[in-house]
Amino acid sequence: MAGNSYVNEIRFIVDHNVGKLAKWLRMMGYDSLFFDGGDDSQMVRQALAEGRMILTRDAGIMLRRVVNNGRLKALFIESEEPERQMRQVMTSLDLKNNLRPFTRCLECNHPLAARSREEVKDRVPPFVFKTQTQYMECPACRRIYWRGTHWKAMTRKMENLANTTDN
Ligand SMILES: [Zn+2]
Repeated sequence: MAGNSYVNEIRFIVDHNVGKLAKWLRMMGYDSLFFDGGDDSQMVRQALAEGRMILTRDAGIMLRRVVNNGRLKALFIESEEPERQMRQVMTSLDLKNNLRPFTRCLECNHPLAARSREEVKDRVPPFVFKTQTQYMECPACRRIYWRGTHWKAMTRKMENLANTTDN
């Protein structure tokens, strides 16, 4: 049920060494912060404080005591290749039955708000206004989203990833 999935929703901190995952996860509707690669301990503290899972290719993080004793959830990403990384995350965390695309800003991770066609009229290109009826706006960065060709291509790619099992 849609209502329950929000309660159990996984939230992430995406380490800089697997940074592409942040946009993909946002696209699927998951709250995903990007960590820019500063102080690892700061990332660990934030993950603990906000109940986030760390996604990383840094084996050192996996050896930390808070990870070993289960207080901090972390997933070691095996591949260097973004599509394989995404497939690993979707498979091992079973995300594919819980996708909510078009709900979160790809740039700043903020939840999107629905906007009527009239509300965005002066802020989208005329050909978009003519052809698109559904719009979302990021209340934080004011970016407007619609289901254009780029969006459709990304969604299709995501569905393909979800439907292929490991290798
Ligand atoms: Zn935004």
